[in-house]
Amino acid sequence: MTKNKKDSWGIDTRDMDIKIRPQNDFYHYANGDWMKKNPIPEHESRWGSFLMLRYDTEKKLHALIADIQDKKNLKVGSAGQMVRDFYVSALDMKRRNELGMKPITPFLDLIKKIKDVQSLILAFAHLERIGGGGPFGIGVDQDMKNSEKYILHIYQSGLGMPDRDYYLKSDAESLRVRNAYEKHIEAILILSGRTKNEAKSDREIIMRIETNIAKVSMMKEDLRDVDKTYHKMSVSSLSRITPSVNWDIFLKEIGAEGVRNIVVMQPKFITAISKMLERESIEDWKTYLTWHLVGGVASSLTAKFEKQNFAFYGTALSGVTKMKPLWRRALGAVNGNLDELLGELYVKEHFSQQAKKKIKEVVADLFEAYEARIRNLDWMSAPTKRKALNKLHQINRKLGYPDKWKSYRGLTITPDDYFGNLIRSALFEHKREMRRLHKTVDRSEWFMSPQTVNAYYSFGMNDIVFPASILQPPFFSVDADDALNYGAMGSVIGHEITHGFDDQGSKFDGKGNRKTWWACSDSEQFAQKASVLIKQFNEYTVADGIKVNGQLTLGENIADLGGASIAFDAYQIRLGKTTRKDIDGFTPEQRFFLGFALFERENERPEAQKTHVLTDPHSPGIFRINGPMSNIPEFYEAFDVKKGDALYRTPKARAKIW
Ligand SMILES: [Zn+2]
Repeated sequence: MTKNKKDSWGIDTRDMDIKIRPQNDFYHYANGDWMKKNPIPEHESRWGSFLMLRYDTEKKLHALIADIQDKKNLKVGSAGQMVRDFYVSALDMKRRNELGMKPITPFLDLIKKIKDVQSLILAFAHLERIGGGGPFGIGVDQDMKNSEKYILHIYQSGLGMPDRDYYLKSDAESLRVRNAYEKHIEAILILSGRTKNEAKSDREIIMRIETNIAKVSMMKEDLRDVDKTYHKMSVSSLSRITPSVNWDIFLKEIGAEGVRNIVVMQPKFITAISKMLERESIEDWKTYLTWHLVGGVASSLTAKFEKQNFAFYGTALSGVTKMKPLWRRALGAVNGNLDELLGELYVKEHFSQQAKKKIKEVVADLFEAYEARIRNLDWMSAPTKRKALNKLHQINRKLGYPDKWKSYRGLTITPDDYFGNLIRSALFEHKREMRRLHKTVDRSEWFMSPQTVNAYYSFGMNDIVFPASILQPPFFSVDADDALNYGAMGSVIGHEITHGFDDQGSKFDGKGNRKTWWACSDSEQFAQKASVLIKQFNEYTVADGIKVNGQLTLGENIADLGGASIAFDAYQIRLGKTTRKDIDGFTPEQRFFLGFALFERENERPEAQKTHVLTDPHSPGIFRINGPMSNIPEFYEAFDVKKGDALYRTPKARAKIW
């Protein structure tokens, strides 16, 4: 194989490192020279295919806003006016600096007035409506056991660091992050007007409360277990396990008055919080809540607050030394608050009908391949296979953008009031969420905007969703070689479908209800097969020898393995309808796997890599490629992998589920 110049088939072979043997490290073989040529930009924690496409999308969104920036007579309440004015308000750093802490004065006053546990609960509820701040959060989501109905969920929250382990462990990485966090708390409090000594004693109180919250928090491995987080109870039962909380006051304040049943995701946690509300003094709770309010909105206040916020969440946690330019931060705020308004403008310009037609074809081949895979499984009984196929057929496919857009009617956005825009948007979304309590589930809803470079599968909706923005090069192009489209995008589609059949998704039926449809013996086989994958990923390490968590990443690893396997079969279906040919010396199968490897190519800072492995259910890029490759027999065949090669695993040690 030789290295050629950029070709029209979708892969630039100059990005490969052919000094590396694909049989030993396929990830670097396929991506090595790209990684050398593309260092991480100073304002990013990682850089790769996904990030580049995200950046590219941001530039398109920026251009869309620039087009309307000077337009006179945009109708108040129109998409253009709201998007433009939100953006302009975020850019106006001068005004934000002048206002200082003023925008949050009403909320600080609310905290100052707390005098007992009941007024503390009321403040939790009040802050919940604008984005949270107390030790628990609420949300309205499908009832896992009655997927046509929405129900209120209460879940653990209240920590400023991304995982409980950072509070409780004493290894070097936890200590490093914890020290940085303590400095961050003090710095923010000083900026908000506390003296050095006051900030120090406040910090001690805050760390004591947060550490106690961390101790009773559910571990991240358990958080992704849908059975461990489903505890439906009446409000009176909840009151019995949380005697210090008056739920009527709380529910009324959040707009959920009259709710009878609630899913309490971590009952032990809520009981422990109820005890903590009595044990800690009201003054200490006020200190804690003030910190969560100011720390939570720091990036939306003045330049100094924003910089300090970045020092911890950007630099300490992710190793990034330079903040993104203001236009990108401002765009991020618009994207986060008016996502579908911006999306409507985006798809008009940037999503073609040809792209939609082509992706529909790829998806159809994926489903055909999946069906055949399930029929041919050697470990699953016939009745379970029938049910699996039934579920597969019920998966709803959402491509590009929603049929019906979210309405923002009644939301006021002005060019001179950034913080006000944020608060009004948060309240508006909170009301939208609470209204769901009185409706049946809307299955047409999207949980990702069309300009998001990502995709998802939802257990409850049983749908796969591919926003317009991910259906672009380098993952997908109407003009590219099918091998690239199936290897990269096809694997992403297969990945999302497989979430419906991963260790958690397989607990749900085709209607999105938590229902056991597996025969016992099939479940046991599945668990046994999954354990091979857990063991394999537990052996991978990143910076400072920190280990990948095979249990935490199990669902994603099952999806990656299934995704690549099924996409390979789908590509074979496509090949059967076209002619085989070699390009640049690569067979169709080899090109397919090169496409797959492109999908996770990335450079990542060591700090970010450590945070990633400790908190993210996705494995780092290299293992998301080399992991599945060392399990897939078709890869062995395509690249002639043999005993003695680094990626070789004995047939017994290879994982195969779907
Ligand atoms: Zn996934």
